[in-house]
Amino acid sequence: MVAVRDDTPREITPREALQRQQGGALLLDVREDAERVAGTPANAVGIARGEIPVRIDELAPDRDGEILTICASGRRSLLAAETLRQLGYRHVVSVAGGFQRWQADGLPVVEQLFDADAAQRYSRHLLLPEVGATGQLKLNAAKIALIGAGGLGSPAALYLAAAGIGTLTLIDDDKVEKSNLQRQVLHADARIGMAKVESARQTLAALNPRVQVRTHAERLRAGNVEALIREHDVVIDGADNFPTRYLLDAACRRLKIPLVYGAVHRFTGQVSVFDARREDSPCYRCLFPQPPAAEDAPNCAEAGVLGVLPGIIGLLQTSEALKLILGIGAPLVGRLLCFDALGATFRELRLPRDAQCPGCGATAIFSGYEDVEHACAAP
Ligand SMILES: [Zn+2]
Repeated sequence: MVAVRDDTPREITPREALQRQQGGALLLDVREDAERVAGTPANAVGIARGEIPVRIDELAPDRDGEILTICASGRRSLLAAETLRQLGYRHVVSVAGGFQRWQADGLPVVEQLFDADAAQRYSRHLLLPEVGATGQLKLNAAKIALIGAGGLGSPAALYLAAAGIGTLTLIDDDKVEKSNLQRQVLHADARIGMAKVESARQTLAALNPRVQVRTHAERLRAGNVEALIREHDVVIDGADNFPTRYLLDAACRRLKIPLVYGAVHRFTGQVSVFDARREDSPCYRCLFPQPPAAEDAPNCAEAGVLGVLPGIIGLLQTSEALKLILGIGAPLVGRLLCFDALGATFRELRLPRDAQCPGCGATAIFSGYEDVEHACAAP
């Protein structure tokens, strides 16, 4: 231990700490994020002990200001106080008995941000500074619409539910078939014949009962597309046909909802993000200006696909969706990410916005949504 050279006490009671805090001292709750989410002293600033050397300068630029440290029971706060003294802070005191005694003394606390279930369930998110309690609350408040509860929608729905997305809206009018089960892992052999959205709801409820799952066993059409996706924060395109994609793209552009695109074919797949909120973002029609002729359309019932492929692409879409909700990282806007399973390679193509695009170009005219006959049946 470092020898004590001044008369400053090393510890004070919670009640004294509160008085000093009200007098202007900075109270640092040095427990881990995952512990703090269950409750913290009122007006305390949360900073995990290990983060102190990295973040303290921004929180307390003045080395002469008074700092109080508190943890669960008063041990770690002593160590944190020592760290602060070594960093040059001259007036640091630890709160004896920690938050336990603070609560026992009936001092003011901020109510828990998460109940015990959520604090445990999302603990690995709460440990990430880039997510943390703030990010987890964003996820819990988010609404994501998933078009298709099939190959791409299966991994997306599973991981979005696991991540604690508040509301998941599933839109799909198909029923579970045996040939789906090679890749559509939301479903189960015993649920063949059941509506896919209902089968999906059962799986997701079992994984995370906190998530609200809304189901629409209907096909996306000109007449319902806006009503179905309105008020969502992100839309994930897990459609299996071009008409739905064009409809979805037009609606997301008009409603200014980011659209996470994904498609698979045989052993390859691609992912991008079309974010109509951004001036520089291309749209789906910058990539595919017009629907292909029916005979050229991939993703039809007769086209094969390696079962794991939609799993990989659907999860890349999910990663983009979570980043959009959290506001972290670099989204795949203006970039088309292509994956080739046989070569095990990723290739990134630049995808700039096309000034002549029939969807988002300067001369584009919106004359209403159009229902185009489906080029092929669902795979
Ligand atoms: Zn465009």
